[in-house]
Amino acid sequence: MISAIALTGVLALSACTDSSAPTADETVAPEAEVSFEAGSTMAALNEAGKITIGTKFDQPLFGQVDGSGDPQGFDVEIGKLIAAKLGIPESGITWTETVSANREPFIESGQVDIVVATYTINDKRKEVISFAGPYYNAGQDILVLAGNPGGINGPDDLAGKPVCTVAGSTSEKNIAEYTDQITSLGGYAECLPLVSAGTVAALTTDNVILAGLAANSGGEFEVVGNPFTEEPYGIGLAKDDTDFRMFINDVLEEAYGDGTWAAAWEKTAGAELPLPDPPAVNRY
Ligand code: GLU
Repeated sequence: MISAIALTGVLALSACTDSSAPTADETVAPEAEVSFEAGSTMAALNEAGKITIGTKFDQPLFGQVDGSGDPQGFDVEIGKLIAAKLGIPESGITWTETVSANREPFIESGQVDIVVATYTINDKRKEVISFAGPYYNAGQDILVLAGNPGGINGPDDLAGKPVCTVAGSTSEKNIAEYTDQITSLGGYAECLPLVSAGTVAALTTDNVILAGLAANSGGEFEVVGNPFTEEPYGIGLAKDDTDFRMFINDVLEEAYGDGTWAAAWEKTAGAELPLPDPPAVNRY
């Protein structure tokens, strides 16, 4: 199977192109010469030539479906990078929509092999799944109507006020320390009409998710710009699959070093956000 994938990859390219160059839609060409320890998750995925990746479908910059139905964004690029290092071509990736509340269950049930979905690494989640990464550090922030008519500059200003966020997220948990008037929906974009209508004073979640939603709003919303939590984004995988976790950590470190992580950022989130320094992976 490894050589079949490699051959397909080579034949898809013109004769004068070297086999390591990605095709037009590929960020990274699938690794041709990879071999993994028998019995490992990497060997199983490589042999199948397929991987199922959970990501968000409604978050501009990180994971949002385009007109063709394929998700686009920084999380999607990270997923493609991992697939490529497993020797899996992009055509072998099945993208499954994961929302904030179903990420652990989807990993636990094996519905997805990994989740790359603005997914904060924390100890509670680590009780049931494991995390590679982080590959980005976000922070929770607040989105309000442009001009900030309510004068909201941080979470303390939301005390006792109605706020919208998403069920099963760290955002929902964190904001509960400041207000008990919380509307928790299925996805962050669903909160925007409530902010427009003034039904809630704000939408709160990670700054980079809010940046994408504000940028797409034609100037209707703004982000307060005062992050009040740390949200290190990890890649969720089956609990205690340590070899797979270390493999993904290796992929990230290599991507930090060879410029592919920065290139993935520039072609996605980089449209709105400055290129950050890559965070150190935590190999716990
Ligand atoms: N990063 C936070 C979390 O994992 C908020 C964003 C999200 O819901 O995906 O819960």
